[in-house]
Amino acid sequence: MKKRLFSMLLLLSLLLCLLPAAAAETEAVPRDWYEIFVRSYCDSDGDGLGDLNGVTQKLDYIQSLGFNGIWLMPIMPSPSYHKYDVTDYYAVDPEYGTQDDLRTLLDAAHARGIAVILDLPVNHCSSEHPWFQSACASSDSPYRDWFNWNETPQNGYSEGGGMYYESRFVDTMPDLNLDNPAVREEIASILDYWLNTVGADGFRLDAVTSFYTGQVPRNVEFLNWLADTAHALKPGCFLVAEAWEGLNTIAAYAASRIDSFFTFPVSQAEGYIAKTLGRANRHPGRSWGEYTALLEETLPPETVPAPFTENHDTGRTVGFTGRSDPGKTKMAFSLLATMRGGLFAYYGQEIGMVGSGEDPNKRIGMLWTDESETTLPPPGATKLEYAYPSVRDQEADPNSLLHYYRRAMELRHRFPAIAAGTSTVLPCDEDRLCLIIREYRGEEILLVVNPSASPVQLFPAHYSADFPTLAASLCTDPDVAVLFRQGSLRMPAYSIAVLTK
Ligand code: CA
Repeated sequence: MKKRLFSMLLLLSLLLCLLPAAAAETEAVPRDWYEIFVRSYCDSDGDGLGDLNGVTQKLDYIQSLGFNGIWLMPIMPSPSYHKYDVTDYYAVDPEYGTQDDLRTLLDAAHARGIAVILDLPVNHCSSEHPWFQSACASSDSPYRDWFNWNETPQNGYSEGGGMYYESRFVDTMPDLNLDNPAVREEIASILDYWLNTVGADGFRLDAVTSFYTGQVPRNVEFLNWLADTAHALKPGCFLVAEAWEGLNTIAAYAASRIDSFFTFPVSQAEGYIAKTLGRANRHPGRSWGEYTALLEETLPPETVPAPFTENHDTGRTVGFTGRSDPGKTKMAFSLLATMRGGLFAYYGQEIGMVGSGEDPNKRIGMLWTDESETTLPPPGATKLEYAYPSVRDQEADPNSLLHYYRRAMELRHRFPAIAAGTSTVLPCDEDRLCLIIREYRGEEILLVVNPSASPVQLFPAHYSADFPTLAASLCTDPDVAVLFRQGSLRMPAYSIAVLTK
């Protein structure tokens, strides 16, 4: 008996020794992120505006969706509703709450294993920022050289301070002079503040192609400086950058030491997912395989792809999948959920929220229950409509988009090879289907995707692979199932399957 106890203790201590290694392995699987426009998410105090405490109240919900990362759109003080023009880089906008509210949110998120990154616009500040006010008031101001001036009118410049200042987006957003060592020192201090004093886990970097407009090498130099500074201040912090460009240019940016870049070509009505699911596409599986291979070939292997279908600047997914086709909308999410990298979903995407045209329409209140629990519309919103029922109603319907998205995320997390593995697209004679081998730490899975609107039978003669076990599957239609017998696979319309060895 004693001997048995001893061996059990030995086994236990051996297991404990292995724990740090296991934790390190889990760390290598990229996080999946949920983007929140705080103003439109959840209002905790009844003033009609979403706030940080509202986000804290919804952490269980966010975790239930399968996300272990949150991207908060800008929370620093700003005169605009969207807050991409900052007036104080060391504070929380009172509309959203206090520094303490943010710390509470961070602590509660961390307790659930959820990381939180903050939106950081440093290409420009607000024209109401004291730096710019001082710079305009006198050419002798110590802040004069924090901005870029010209004596004559230029494209991308606005009149002010007796000259013309660079303002690539709009005159209320003066571009900072990122060559000025004092500005870089200030940015380093801002990074340190949020990462270490406050405890954030990283940043989403806004508009990085505008740092030095049209100059990729100079932008990459600045991004490398920023990445090195942030990683030295807080090892393990996560940086994802917005370079709204084509794949080759994104690849050039991704060669920098920033951890991750949004995979814009996957997103929106002209993106890879929309094209794969397009009505006219007769070989959607082959298309998806080609896009998968193209991403693998083009992006540097050390970068973490950040695929998404919609964000606060784009039309929402239902705009291209169609309001009358929940199957296709679900499949758009499944394609995303089977991609390598750390995916990004935009709040409300999980209930099929719609919005297009003017920016405020893409940022309307989250539909938790009904109007009484929905935040006030952002100024300028012209369309306040919802294509699908509320969270409350979708929770009650096992066939809802919401429940399907949860299942897709569960499948993603059950097989770490999906997010973290290398991809090999297999040749397949049946071009409505796509077959991808994912390999992660010596384990291989075969991912079978049917992005077509019809059921497809896959016979052993169609492909060559040795994965005898159907380990998981997911169908958009609850009344059908993937069937696997003697190497023949019946894939219902809009379905995915995972085969293992
Ligand atoms: Ca509020």
